[in-house]
Amino acid sequence: MKFYSTSNRSNQVSLSEAVIKGLAPDQGLYMPEEIPVLEESFFVDFSKMTFREIGYKVIGALFSSALSDSQIKELVDHTLVFDAPLVEVEQDVYSLELFHGPTLAFKDFGARFCSKLMSMLLAKSAQKVRVLVATSGDTGSAVANGFLGVDGVEVIILFPKGKVSELQEKQFTTLAENITSLEVEGVFDDCQRMVKQAFLDPELNVKLLLTSANSINIARWIPQCLYYFYAFSRLPQNGKKVVFSVPSGNFGNLAAGILAQKMGLPIDHFVAATNENKVVPQFLAGDAFLAKPSVQTVSNSMDVGNPSNFPRLLALYDFDENRLKQHVSGAFYSDSETVKAIQKVNEIGYTLDPHGAVGYLGLVDFMKVNPGYQGVFLETAHSGKFRDVVEKALGEKVVLPERLAAFLEGDKKVIPMGNDFEEFKGFLTNLKS
Ligand SMILES: *Cc1c(COP(=O)(O)O)cnc(C)c1O
Repeated sequence: MKFYSTSNRSNQVSLSEAVIKGLAPDQGLYMPEEIPVLEESFFVDFSKMTFREIGYKVIGALFSSALSDSQIKELVDHTLVFDAPLVEVEQDVYSLELFHGPTLAFKDFGARFCSKLMSMLLAKSAQKVRVLVATSGDTGSAVANGFLGVDGVEVIILFPKGKVSELQEKQFTTLAENITSLEVEGVFDDCQRMVKQAFLDPELNVKLLLTSANSINIARWIPQCLYYFYAFSRLPQNGKKVVFSVPSGNFGNLAAGILAQKMGLPIDHFVAATNENKVVPQFLAGDAFLAKPSVQTVSNSMDVGNPSNFPRLLALYDFDENRLKQHVSGAFYSDSETVKAIQKVNEIGYTLDPHGAVGYLGLVDFMKVNPGYQGVFLETAHSGKFRDVVEKALGEKVVLPERLAAFLEGDKKVIPMGNDFEEFKGFLTNLKS
């Protein structure tokens, strides 16, 4: 299987090159050249398969030309070490809980897969790899924990000063070892811009082997399709159409759902649910796509003004905007609507985090006007990860899972950094190659 760049379909590379490069040199995102469609019998049998068995099948279909069966098994087994239960919250409304991994957010799936795949592909390389990551919170913790202690890889995390919750920060700034955190005087979009610029800088790329573990990297992005298959396989088979609502920031998660759909999973519709950073919902409603500076909200992991996976949404529908708009509708919510949803759903006995709350709202609003569906919203983080918001909404304490509480005890270690690329470049230039 080859991977093409969304900027130019004739620029094609191997799996290994796509993973190590992260972003294509022409700034496009890599996409599988041919998306395999799984045979119908799989969709009959998958309700009896385990999550891992589903994983072998799906990853096998995508990567079998580059990896052996045993490598595929190793990769899936390393990734799927925690469950993704489907919980019925109201009639026909299900929460897909993606927060049972080590850092309690869905990014653990992609980060674990990515670190394992990179170490497989780099096993023969002598050069040290630098993984550059821009984070608004959850990516940093998932990637840092996924790569901690991986030989030959150093992770450099850029995060916006004062814009990431204490708990999120602690999950990557306290680890040390092969993880370095840069505290950037700016917003998330500054961090993302600096990282992108580093990948495109000829001098840096001669000296260092740089790669990305943001969801632009196919090794982070592709494994996220697995839990759509798994969730679908666990839904009741009652003839109802299926809609997934995805709380979105950079839109990697939603794009992975569409990938599953293209592989034959009969998802009827998607809702792209956002907070006030709503350029994609506005585009889906008919406006031109226009990146904007990000605004801060209570669902801060989705505070993205220039969503990096947007080209993938288009590529998945063969760059046909109308087909994209037929399959995906947008919805966006204010902080007060998000907080009200957390309160309302708490009354029926389920605790949402602010991101899941946005997904929930997108789902129930869609189902109100479109009867005949059962729906799944992605609950992308544990409520304890955003306990400031959740505790304020509910007026009661949220109990932190033990593995999260443990992070709070470590000491924060960061290097301060301006939001100017030259300063960042200077830092990188001084690293040993
Ligand atoms: C990263 C993140 C999102 C947004 O996911 P994208 O793939 O960037 O759209 C949503 N919720 C949480 C909790 C996140 O960490």
